Amino acid sequence: MEKVNSKKIIRLSKSAIGVAEKNAVLGVLDREYLGMGVEVRDFEDALSTYFGRPAICVVNGTAAIHLALQAAGIGDGDEVLVQSMTYVASFQAIAASGARPVACDINPQTMTLNWKDAEKRLTSRTRAVMPVHYGGGVGDLSEIYSFAKENNLRVIEDAAHAFGSQYRNEKVGGFGDVACFSFDGIKNITSGEGGCIVTSDPELLLKAKDARLLGVEKDTDKRFRGERSWDFSVTQQGWRYHMSNIMAAIGIEQLKKLAMMASKRQELAIHYQRRLSVCSRVSMLRNNYREVVPHIFPIILSDGIDRSEIVARLDRFNIQTGIHYKPNHKLEKFMSNSSLPATDRVCDRVLSLPLHFDLSMDDVDYVCDKLMDSIR
Ligand SMILES: *Cc1c(COP(=O)(O)O)cnc(C)c1O
Repeated sequence: MEKVNSKKIIRLSKSAIGVAEKNAVLGVLDREYLGMGVEVRDFEDALSTYFGRPAICVVNGTAAIHLALQAAGIGDGDEVLVQSMTYVASFQAIAASGARPVACDINPQTMTLNWKDAEKRLTSRTRAVMPVHYGGGVGDLSEIYSFAKENNLRVIEDAAHAFGSQYRNEKVGGFGDVACFSFDGIKNITSGEGGCIVTSDPELLLKAKDARLLGVEKDTDKRFRGERSWDFSVTQQGWRYHMSNIMAAIGIEQLKKLAMMASKRQELAIHYQRRLSVCSRVSMLRNNYREVVPHIFPIILSDGIDRSEIVARLDRFNIQTGIHYKPNHKLEKFMSNSSLPATDRVCDRVLSLPLHFDLSMDDVDYVCDKLMDSIR
């Protein structure tokens, strides 16, 4: 369809990179030590201080989930309960560990794991539950922990959307079993690509540290001292999953700006809520954006609204939209005929509106005006 004006494109999401990140990268390039060294150590230290417990960095969020599962001893023949409504990264990471992702339903108000549905899918092979903090909110996380405890399950949180979010006055990732974050280009903070694992479990941490460097034992400490391991032991399957200094240099600067970037995202989401609350034909997630730092801003369209038509209309006004997500149980690799009524009900009606640090309140007004015109 032809565009109605030549106004700037309102992007769905984007990185927000300033002079500090650029200079930090140039510094790494100048020092000509690009692999995993002091910048990664410093980023890990800063993250560990932020969370109040150890964090280790890896090459992306998918690798973080894969390694966390492996280091928790989850693999072949095991089952992991996870919501179908998530990015395929969660499912592929579980599959990479050798375990089977078991698609579960969601609570449609928050699009987070419905643990009562998950409970029905328990078998003797279930080893872990993976709540996905959809949009930055954690849903019934404390109930999920009780459910896991009762059933002797590990909890591996896919917290890719939730960097900066709080839950009951604690930082997401600062408590609980294991939390995995993503720092890909459009997440709440970025290191270009990247991710981290946060846990208080020293055994898991040690295994994951070695496994990110091809299983070479104690290689992390050597690299942080600028040394290499020439004589070494390998006792487990490892991967090339470490983070580079270039990425860490970006991440360190982004973490310093977290408070500012997070509150901007929150203000934008609150503005969307205010504007769209008068519109009976869309609904929004039940998130409190004073504690949730939103990664995306999804709306649910009412019955009878043709989503593809709305997408096309907004596109004509240079407004990008997204779909988070096509559910995993509808992908050929993970196909199942389980009944997931809430997921099936929302998946064709969910639509994400632009949300990123460089969006203005006026941009939000423009998006809301055009959206409400389109569905009138
Ligand atoms: C981004 C994302 C991941 C994976 O992170 P990458 O860094 O892109 O590998 C995992 N789960 C969800 C829900 C995500 O949005």
